[in-house]
Amino acid sequence: MPATDARVIAVDTYDIRFPTSRELDGSDAMNPDPDYSAAYVVLRTDAEQAPRGHGFAFTIGRGNEVQVAAVHALRPHLLGRSVDALCADPGTLYRDLVGDSQLRWLGPEKGVMHMAIGAVVNAVWDLAARRAGKPLWRLLADAEPEWLVGQVDFRHLTDALTPDEALELLRRGRAGAAARTDRLLATGYPAYTTSPGWLGYDDDKLTRLAVRAVADGFRQIKLKVGADLDDDIRRCRAARAAIGPGVRLALDANQRWDVPEAIRWTNALAEFDPYWIEEPTSPDDVLGHAAVRCGVAPVKVATGEHAANRIVFKQFLQAGAVDIVQIDATRVAGVNENLAVLLLAAKYGVPVCPHAGGVGLCELVQHLAMFDYLALTGTTEDRVIEYVDHLHDHFLDPVVIRAGHYTAPTAPGFSAALRPESIARYTYPGGTFWTADAAAKAAAERVGGRAA
Ligand SMILES: [Mg+2]
Repeated sequence: MPATDARVIAVDTYDIRFPTSRELDGSDAMNPDPDYSAAYVVLRTDAEQAPRGHGFAFTIGRGNEVQVAAVHALRPHLLGRSVDALCADPGTLYRDLVGDSQLRWLGPEKGVMHMAIGAVVNAVWDLAARRAGKPLWRLLADAEPEWLVGQVDFRHLTDALTPDEALELLRRGRAGAAARTDRLLATGYPAYTTSPGWLGYDDDKLTRLAVRAVADGFRQIKLKVGADLDDDIRRCRAARAAIGPGVRLALDANQRWDVPEAIRWTNALAEFDPYWIEEPTSPDDVLGHAAVRCGVAPVKVATGEHAANRIVFKQFLQAGAVDIVQIDATRVAGVNENLAVLLLAAKYGVPVCPHAGGVGLCELVQHLAMFDYLALTGTTEDRVIEYVDHLHDHFLDPVVIRAGHYTAPTAPGFSAALRPESIARYTYPGGTFWTADAAAKAAAERVGGRAA
């Protein structure tokens, strides 16, 4: 596109919270009552009629204001910056943010500050893709391998992956991309669904949703486990009966166990032929995962949604601790760091099955998986993107699932923009939903007080 002198003039932040805990949507053994939330950021520029950049960090309720404050702390790095330069090379901003000599103390490269960097960096990628008139997956798949390598920070990675190796992977990965693009546009990218498996759902609801998932074309479902073994045996039996022997059943313990318990518990569920056990223990425990992997084979071990950065992923792969890498679009520092993780997984030959759900995670991460298919690993074999059917209506470009597959988005951008009316309703605590909710609670307390 023609050069402009547009600058970033505002970094707007929003604390968005959805009351999902009331339906027990999203409930698991560690997180029984999540209110899916987004620390949402919009980059505005001074170019007339120009697109904006949208990004967010996903949280599950309390503390979202801390996440918003962390995004706010990054504003000085963005205000006044050239939009052309940002979009031509998001990696420069990523390096500036990760390398901020004072903010870096709050990590380094992990936790709230790092997730804030992810929100802002992803907003820049959204802006870049909108300005290019392409969905992000296409912008990435069309990019020159040399440019993509330049987007990756190889610091602390070169014992496992060098820039030259990454370049070779990307050059080889492009062969046949045109035919794969046709296939992607025709059939989409395989998905699995976690919707039947929330811990707070009763057996009837689990069975009904599992039957429906198979009828809808999903070839894998996932169940939350880890709170009570007898319950898990009963729920796995119900799920396996509902889906039959030919559909994969994944399990997710959300970090609930110590290593010996993870091995015992997973083996106690082996009769239901689980495909993987996800987050069996602490997301930081690389050697623990390796031990679990040895102890539960042939059940596969999956993790990554809470892996703080590319270095943790590197160790999981070096240690042979995982069978499946689960990238998350908003946990690490945005597209740039996820490119590093995709390249690491490709080098080690480990399939990536992205974590999604929450709010907006499906919308974002589909782009990264589709890029991986088109221009890096070239396959969807044993690869599936998580899907959960909540909260998509709040996005201007929501995911579309057809016959158990993510349909490739065609709208320009990273699918990250929320609807204005959803922002007005679910901003916390001042949005119309939350003010009405507070008023209703206050009224109920007055009635309760009189009754007492
Ligand atoms: Mg999980």
